[in-house]
Amino acid sequence: MAEAEGVIQFNCCLAPPSAELPDDLVQPLLAWRSVLRRLELIGQAGERYGGLGYGNVSSRLPGAAGGFVITASQTSGIADAGIEQLVWVRRWDLGRFRVEAEGALPPSSETLTHAMLYAGDPQVNWVLHGHCPDIWRGAEAMGLAAIGADVGYGSPQMAEAVATLLRTHRTRPLVFVTLGHEDGVFACGGSAEATGGALAAALARALACPKP
Ligand SMILES: [Zn+2]
Repeated sequence: MAEAEGVIQFNCCLAPPSAELPDDLVQPLLAWRSVLRRLELIGQAGERYGGLGYGNVSSRLPGAAGGFVITASQTSGIADAGIEQLVWVRRWDLGRFRVEAEGALPPSSETLTHAMLYAGDPQVNWVLHGHCPDIWRGAEAMGLAAIGADVGYGSPQMAEAVATLLRTHRTRPLVFVTLGHEDGVFACGGSAEATGGALAAALARALACPKP
């Protein structure tokens, strides 16, 4: 079953920003968001997903600050996003489906999936999520890792499936698809360049695959 895009499946406690986000994290995050928009892995178009925005990016905050910064909910249609479209997720509780965040807008509806990846591997500093029919349909032929179609998106089963995926696929960056979330593809890794590069490479491989 394909889950609807943009449906927030957790409780969020949102507070105004209490500290400035570091520029050396914000600028690459916005740049990779732009790259994914140009590749149409992030966007908003009337004919796709009922006109809802799709795709989101995040980066772990290093040091004592903790948490991660993610794009805000339903902002994928904005061409030139700025810091006001970013949200700092300070804490999360995967058991209770709760997050505490700071920002002007609520965090992406897919924040918990990003949190699952950060919680599952301390080596993961970047998570890029896009929607790409080419990669999603070609995933099996390309031998990409996958979260099964029977795993409810944003469910406790999803948290378990993500943890298992990270344990069984040790390569980073890791590109995988979510078969229960139409066209969903994730890349996670240590650096923005490696993670974004792996996602772009997966797209190139998908385009090179003979079409059935
Ligand atoms: Zn999605």
